[in-house]
Amino acid sequence: MSQIPPPPSAMLAELTHRCPLSCPYCSNPLELTAREAELSAPQWAEVFTQAGALGVLQVHLSGGEPLARRDLPDLVSAAVAAGLYTNLITSGIGLTEARLKDLAGRGLDHIQLSIQGPNAQIADRVGGYKGGYDKKMEVAGWIAAEGIPLTVNAVMHRHNLDRLEEVFALALRLGARRLEVATVQFHGWAARNKAALMPTRAQVEAANRSVAAARERLKGRLVIDYVPADYYARFPKPCMGGWGRVGLVVTPDGTVMPCHAAHTIPHLRFENAKDTPLAQIWTGSPAFNAYRGTDWMREPCRSCDRREVDFGGCRCQAMAFAGAAEEADPVCEKSPHHGVMAAMAEASVAPELEGGSPGGGAIDDVAFTYRDNA
Ligand code: SF4
Ligand code: SF4
Repeated sequence: MSQIPPPPSAMLAELTHRCPLSCPYCSNPLELTAREAELSAPQWAEVFTQAGALGVLQVHLSGGEPLARRDLPDLVSAAVAAGLYTNLITSGIGLTEARLKDLAGRGLDHIQLSIQGPNAQIADRVGGYKGGYDKKMEVAGWIAAEGIPLTVNAVMHRHNLDRLEEVFALALRLGARRLEVATVQFHGWAARNKAALMPTRAQVEAANRSVAAARERLKGRLVIDYVPADYYARFPKPCMGGWGRVGLVVTPDGTVMPCHAAHTIPHLRFENAKDTPLAQIWTGSPAFNAYRGTDWMREPCRSCDRREVDFGGCRCQAMAFAGAAEEADPVCEKSPHHGVMAAMAEASVAPELEGGSPGGGAIDDVAFTYRDNA
């Protein structure tokens, strides 16, 4: 690709892989980065400065659990000084009222609080952390009192997808302005828990209807962002808004990637922000340029009129299910591999769960493989 790409607008900064929770759907890689390998606060500050100069507008401070870093206030200050809009993506565990006030005083703009379920029974079981739900409720109260805009994030799967109405009600009760409902994607630890987490086709279709109705009903009160399950869909999502098009990810050790699962494409090599300037990576990295734009596409994407709508879908999904990252995302009905995802999904629903009590009634009996800790 010879043209200089427009600058990215968003950066996901994975500050650490450490986390007190151990969600079985965690999108962190199976091999977690150890604490000793994490970028230091001055190194992150340099990354934020370079990101601001490159044109990045907002930074999502993520993990793992960013609160696991004692120096988080310094990192927020550095991001604010770099002119970035700062969004803290957190489970809330590790926050105190005093710590929140400190972060607010440093200029933190927004908080995205994850919930693992709409009640303590489901949430604590899924997160593998007793008392986590009650703590989150307390944290949401402090956030509201501090006046920091709040988004609630809920990853949905077989054990909570039937409880969307409770999730909508919870988000409203917590004073969220935005709710992100993301159906589980089978990267990282989620792939290990496919049988336990895979929703049924009926659940997914009911969820699509439920979100559409809630969006209408709650207009003006709650914005609902929805990542639908694509295993049963006809067309793919524009993954990351297009490869190397609007965002980049920096992992805890400084590796820079176009998306958080890009390391699953084995032939790609990624630069590190410790050694290479971010601007150089964004414009010149062979990994970023590999699937940028549309030149790399094969048929059916190459001649498709949706090629600049969904950019051929997800490269990592194409790699995993169609055998090559240059293929169309197999979710697409035009792909010769279409159907493989739906077949995989249907085959993955654990037979003993098929008739199980919906919405997590049998949650205590589910055998999750919890994620390790870094
Ligand atoms: S998904 Fe769960 S385990 Fe993974 S970082 Fe988030 S809160 Fe921690
Ligand atoms: S053929 Fe490619 S560009 Fe067209 S809809 Fe399918 S994935 Fe998208």
